[in-house]
Amino acid sequence: MTEPVLDNHCHLTADNRGIEAVKDFQRSGGTHLLVVNQPSWKLGIEADEPNDFRAVFDETVDLVERASDVLPGQAWPVLGVHPALISRLVDRGHSPDDAAELMMDGLDVAAEYAADGPAIALKSGRPHYDVAAAVWEASNAVLRHGLTLAAETGVALQLHTESTESLEEVADWAEAAGLPPERVVKHYANGRCAGVTPSVISRKEALRTAAESEYPFLMETDYLDDPDRPGAVLGPKTVPRRTKWLREEGYESAVHTAHVETPERVYGIDMQASL
Ligand SMILES: [Zn+2]
Repeated sequence: MTEPVLDNHCHLTADNRGIEAVKDFQRSGGTHLLVVNQPSWKLGIEADEPNDFRAVFDETVDLVERASDVLPGQAWPVLGVHPALISRLVDRGHSPDDAAELMMDGLDVAAEYAADGPAIALKSGRPHYDVAAAVWEASNAVLRHGLTLAAETGVALQLHTESTESLEEVADWAEAAGLPPERVVKHYANGRCAGVTPSVISRKEALRTAAESEYPFLMETDYLDDPDRPGAVLGPKTVPRRTKWLREEGYESAVHTAHVETPERVYGIDMQASL
């Protein structure tokens, strides 16, 4: 019997390895993927209006369909606006509030793909680097808009944030927006993240922390599929390989947590039935 193995956060590029990376993942024992759209500027799009994001989302949806053909399970899109876009927009002369408005409108477009389409999560967040107070406030407004949209469309929200072990304030905002905090996912977590669900970067130390904690968690590579940064972050075979390693280390129940229980809890997907 095939066991489900989910990479909860990776990127694919049509012009780079694309589906070849999915085949690597599958041959290593991977079954399911959540594919997050690339930042708009990586595709050469300088967004000036919300509809500019559609090309970005459509490319991801297309890659996801092709990935599902290769996988024993399936792939799903995670769509949203990268939080670092605010700095690019401010550099191009937008005020922080003006930039935030465009990003919120972009998230509204992503939410269409969640309400009527294949996306099972939205993606938002705030800069992971130091920014001016006005940019930080505007970014938090975008993040909170993401929480509201996820609540309204009944999907999860993946967050790109500063490196932290606690997002309890964000969990309070989620609650206030009507989104269960466990449906908020901290991408690139180092093992634990109080308040929300950590998507743990699949390095041994971080995975051991997560497995020992006995809290819900997901596993990811943040594979970039970026020709300019080959070998940056982790490769597409990493989640299946580290899953095998977790089993060898005796963390069988953590494997079940990462690949069956937590995906069901966060996204409402039945991993075994979708195999
Ligand atoms: Zn990413």
